[in-house]
Amino acid sequence: MRVGIVGGGQLGRMLGLAAVPLNVATVFLDPAEDACARVVGEQLIGEFSDPSALDRLAASCDVLTYEFENVDVAELQRIAVNTTVRPSVRAVEVSQQRHREKAFFEGLGLDVAPWAYAESSADLDGALATTGLPAILKTDRLGYDGKGQVRITEASQAAAAFERLGGVPICVEGVVPFDFEVSVIGSRGIDASTEVYALTENRHRDGILWQSRTVADQARLADVARQAFLATTAALDYVGTLAIEFFVVGERLLVNEFAPRVHNSGHWTLDGAVTSQFENHMRAVAGLPLGSARLLGSAGMQNFIGNVPPTAEILADPAVRLHAYGKQARNGRKVGHANVVADSAAQRDSSLETLANVTSRYETRTL
Ligand code: AMP
Repeated sequence: MRVGIVGGGQLGRMLGLAAVPLNVATVFLDPAEDACARVVGEQLIGEFSDPSALDRLAASCDVLTYEFENVDVAELQRIAVNTTVRPSVRAVEVSQQRHREKAFFEGLGLDVAPWAYAESSADLDGALATTGLPAILKTDRLGYDGKGQVRITEASQAAAAFERLGGVPICVEGVVPFDFEVSVIGSRGIDASTEVYALTENRHRDGILWQSRTVADQARLADVARQAFLATTAALDYVGTLAIEFFVVGERLLVNEFAPRVHNSGHWTLDGAVTSQFENHMRAVAGLPLGSARLLGSAGMQNFIGNVPPTAEILADPAVRLHAYGKQARNGRKVGHANVVADSAAQRDSSLETLANVTSRYETRTL
């Protein structure tokens, strides 16, 4: 079995690493000659949307998957005629446009922030009447890690914000006064079996994920998140790992967005679950049975942005495991993470605090 992966970044690399003991080979398509997944599988050098490069990838694998959702949908549809593509092309299509994603979740009966779609500046007043203020203007396509977003507090700021985003179609959202942010990650197999991981609380800095930790004491929220995962994956006829991010407001969960792929907030599963999100993605797309998502302790993750701190400093705590991505240090870039698995939430939090201090000393995120 050979799995082709569009994208050879850190997610591709961790997918490839998980594939090795399964006896599944991986081949990556990535334009960067130093793509960090190249050490775990074969790499084809080519642009993600180049038809001939995608043809070469499809010809060299049994199943094709992707590590990021901004793949060209028309190209993927063309490839899917003769090659098995998992997860479904529809999952990519829905996730690429924020307004479609929100309508999709509403159609499933899930709550989202008040939102409106605006194609031109003439739509802004009407959009703000729906969302209220303060609001966040987000490009409808191609946003990630808080990029392509502008917050406004007054209606008079909307036109300038729209221009700043390039005058492209946007999704306007009311700012949600959330208590905290969580995500649910799970995998679905070709037989529709599912494995859902523990609910994860996520803390961001400058729009980039900073830390994740498993939440053990919120059974009701975890159940609502799990139901959202089941409804989403069933509606998309999904095969693979998927993540949904939510805002928690009191007792309510509002869906922010989903990713049809393995997700940064699930990196703790490498050490904190019986089977990681990466292994379960590879098992699912290869048509193999899923592994247990059972939690092995109180788990957490610290992201490294810009630089990986010195290895010996990270590993000074025996509860910590390092996952460096083999990427060149660069401002604002995700270059690695560390996971913690402990017997109690208090011990986990203490290890994460130490990691946060080490990380802050070395990270670079601004030019
Ligand atoms: P996104 O790219 O949509 O994941 O947004 C990045 C981060 O911005 C989120 O994780 C939140 O911390 C914040 N954010 C996005 N949308 C909203 C919203 N409607 N209300 C409050 N905070 C938001």
